[in-house]
Amino acid sequence: MFAKVKSIALAGLLGVKVSVEVDISNGLPSLNIVGLPDKAVQESSERVRSAIKNAGFEFPLRRITVNLAPAEVRKEGSTFDLPIAIGVLAVTGAIKNTEVIKDFYFAGELSLDGSVRRISGALPMVLSVKDDVKNFVIPYDNRAETEIVDSVLIFPVKHIKEVVEFLNGDKKIVPEHRSIPDLLHLDNNFDEDFSDIKGQFQAKRALEIAASGGHNIVMVGSPGSGKTLLARRLPTILPPLIEKEALEVTQIYSAGGLLKDSGVVNTRPFRSPHHTASSASIIGGGNSPKPGEISLAHNGVLFLDELPEFRRDVLEALRQPLEDAFITITRVKERVTYPARFMLVAAMNPCPCGWYKDPVHNCSCSVSDIKRYRNKISGPMWDRFDMQVEVPRLLPEELTKTVKGEISKDVRDRVTRAKGIQIERYKREKIFNNSALTPRLIKKFIELGQDENGFLNNAADKLGLTGRGFDKILKVARTIADLDGSSRVRLPHIAEAIQYRTDLSVE
Ligand SMILES: [Zn+2]
Repeated sequence: MFAKVKSIALAGLLGVKVSVEVDISNGLPSLNIVGLPDKAVQESSERVRSAIKNAGFEFPLRRITVNLAPAEVRKEGSTFDLPIAIGVLAVTGAIKNTEVIKDFYFAGELSLDGSVRRISGALPMVLSVKDDVKNFVIPYDNRAETEIVDSVLIFPVKHIKEVVEFLNGDKKIVPEHRSIPDLLHLDNNFDEDFSDIKGQFQAKRALEIAASGGHNIVMVGSPGSGKTLLARRLPTILPPLIEKEALEVTQIYSAGGLLKDSGVVNTRPFRSPHHTASSASIIGGGNSPKPGEISLAHNGVLFLDELPEFRRDVLEALRQPLEDAFITITRVKERVTYPARFMLVAAMNPCPCGWYKDPVHNCSCSVSDIKRYRNKISGPMWDRFDMQVEVPRLLPEELTKTVKGEISKDVRDRVTRAKGIQIERYKREKIFNNSALTPRLIKKFIELGQDENGFLNNAADKLGLTGRGFDKILKVARTIADLDGSSRVRLPHIAEAIQYRTDLSVE
């Protein structure tokens, strides 16, 4: 007796078709699984055997061989429990019409009692179904994330018994579909608001510009200046996710096993890993590769507080994904790619003690201390930031004097408008915002008048700008012009952009 069951293995977010072949023959009772890593084989065969028995089915006292093909595809053990069990139940006759199996894909982990448990990566698995079979039997707890795929019918199940009844025609399961736009938080209600923070108008303005153009930004300021509070409120001024973005983000969270019950990530991610985090947790990787913080921040914000405290190798590893908007993790026999298009927001103290240039406290650091501290971030890494702003600490009297700031919604409306202008402008290019402008595209899209050119060249001489620094000012100026609703970049836009290149040199 022989049965063949369809399933999917994941490499990153890419699904690969796997055929689970089950053969039963005379011989000593055994369950041999071929095509899985050793440890996973052992665990899977235990679970499958117990699940089948405890669900009340007969487990054949014969020789059962399970082959997961193709062999060269790396397979995570637990998601194949269900297809393996279905194959066994087909060869033993518990599933009466074995033809019907061909019309379905199966994925799910089994408990010893036969219940079907949630798996990681269900959404990318379902999305990668491309052949004529458009039915997928999936764990009940994965239904919310997979029911958003409209090209595949989802059959959620709770127990192996239920699957057998369903395949035998004794039980009906009605597939449901949910539409992503209905699940998105278009009104974005947040607990925090930009208006919570008094003063700091320049920093807020800088964040508004950064959010509009997708610019990476670093904030430098003493403890208590509010730079962390500001960064944490950044999501409140970001435009809502659109459907395509939400689907991308949700796939990554599905692969990482991080989806909540709603099934869809419906607001822009904001990730703030601690500076002690390992390279694998930030970049991605591990024994069975999982998306790292840079991918979990896809279409959102990666916030690195106390930037110089991060391990140098971690910071250096960020450079490539910042350029490419994706990360490739290379492992033995395997390469896995995850999207990683995020806005990098960083905060740091001006010096090791934190009080350099503070109006009240005295800084106890020597010039070489400060230089060493800032040199923890390499030149090429500094180059990834389009904007640098100083966030001065406000004195108590300044705090009480200052009027309440604008509410997030008003800022968000401007950011959303500016973003819309960029999407329209770059619709024939492969970029979405000003921050992604390459030198070639800067020439194509940013045309300066004589006055603007003269002013910028003059400033470049004074500031000793490199070509890269020059381009960054142009990109930021383009965003300021977009916020201003101006089709051309004009003098005031350039003048403001120059302010966001704070001189971080130490006197
Ligand atoms: Zn100091």
